[in-house]
Amino acid sequence: MTLFKKAETLIPYLFQQKQNGRSVGFVPTMGALHQGHLSLIRAAQKRNDLTVCSIFVNPTQFNNPDDFARYPKTMDKDVEALLAGGCDVLFLPAVGEIYPPAFAARRYELGALENVLEGKYRPGHFQGVCQVMDRLLEIVAPAELYLGQKDYQQCMVIERVIALLGKAGEVSVNVVPTVRETDGLAMSSRNLRLTENQREKAPALYKALRFAKDALATQSVEAVERQADAALRQQGFAVDYFAIADAATLLPATDVSKPMVALVAAHLDGIRLIDNLPLN
Ligand code: AMP
Repeated sequence: MTLFKKAETLIPYLFQQKQNGRSVGFVPTMGALHQGHLSLIRAAQKRNDLTVCSIFVNPTQFNNPDDFARYPKTMDKDVEALLAGGCDVLFLPAVGEIYPPAFAARRYELGALENVLEGKYRPGHFQGVCQVMDRLLEIVAPAELYLGQKDYQQCMVIERVIALLGKAGEVSVNVVPTVRETDGLAMSSRNLRLTENQREKAPALYKALRFAKDALATQSVEAVERQADAALRQQGFAVDYFAIADAATLLPATDVSKPMVALVAAHLDGIRLIDNLPLN
């Protein structure tokens, strides 16, 4: 695996690789890697000649400074995992590399996506996601991008930003299913922050999603949302939302014959966890 810290060296390296006919698959991450990230690396390896992983904890997508400060960092382990996983290139930029002094943040028109669910509870978050993706796509210019379904709304935002940048014909997006612990908890870097007691409670999120999937066969969307929300609160979660949404728009599901997705965000003593489950 080759390590790059500078865009000015990575860009010509990748240009040469592409000239030699090698297709580039890209897996952007914020590190503290787990099996979820590694499943994206594997997916990239299957379809591309060269797999590039980036590790960059993007300050502009954190609406909560405390969350940014406490974001887990396990760099030595990450490098080991990527080496063992056969990743070809690791891009490890400093903040100034992604946001040089002359960087002027533009505004990305995300429409309703920006104001629902994660957008509502994390103001500015998706503009930050768009900024970092804009810059990373400019540097890596991959043929294929690999994203986790764990961040359902983020996948939609990134597909939108690719279209806004006029790159829909250059880069195709592959959404990889969520990798879970055996008890159902979606793998997440933030799980490292859970105490033993919190870790025991955390699978309740997935249980609530499974409940929603089953209960929707006989109950209304509103009744299912209400019960799932109440069950989580009873178990000590501070729930931002438990929502059953149209899978294509993330607006409230009004037509249950269309594909739907259940999405949840909840805090356990200040640690914010998200998960989702496609329903039909
Ligand atoms: P992050 O490091 O949290 O920014 O995540 C980097 C990428 O890994 C994103 O595309 C995530 O959606 C994806 N990812 C995170 N957790 C999982 C998981 N449990 N299963 C599959 N993909 C994941």
